[in-house]
Amino acid sequence: MELAVEMPDGWRPLFAEALSAAAEVVAAIGALREFVPWPDNPAYAGLLPDPVPAAAQVAAWPADPASPFARLHTAINAIAPAACWRQTYRQDEVGADFLARYGYFELIGPTGHFHDETMRAYVAYWGAGLNYDWHLHEAEEAYFVIAGSAQFMARGQQDVVLSAGGWRIHASNEPHAMITYDQPVLTLVLWRGNGLDAESRLGAA
Ligand code: ZN
Repeated sequence: MELAVEMPDGWRPLFAEALSAAAEVVAAIGALREFVPWPDNPAYAGLLPDPVPAAAQVAAWPADPASPFARLHTAINAIAPAACWRQTYRQDEVGADFLARYGYFELIGPTGHFHDETMRAYVAYWGAGLNYDWHLHEAEEAYFVIAGSAQFMARGQQDVVLSAGGWRIHASNEPHAMITYDQPVLTLVLWRGNGLDAESRLGAA
């Protein structure tokens, strides 16, 4: 007998709140607003939960109520247990500790919680003290820090430590890397352009 598994409807308003909160942040930050048009009313895809260890870490990381991005952070806390988390990389590439404290999910996109074929918006998290090695992808990318802090490195750009409200753009196939120090980092990541369907791969060229 086949079991029909369906996403409980109770999660839907929580995902809708996260979508709305993300849209509010993108509208407020010029670099993000200009990076890619935000889709109008993308359809809710009802993806099933696929937790990784980081899901519980994200759920348990409370927003700073004084942060201008507290609404989005709180909305992400709420959907973290029900998100379809991904990791892209294997343990032999990044190690067990990395996979125990890292993960991302696609809020909007071709395979996201909300469906859109023109862009991708990911929520991505790294715990403190992680080294995200050099990697690249064809799609252009805008990183925005919702909470915490990390050092961002990219070929041809100065290293920069970004905290809440900070952003950085990576060109197509521009190698980049990231290090977290004493804090975790929670980010909103936008993709546009060619290669939207391709995954990131490790390497510097
Ligand atoms: Zn990237």
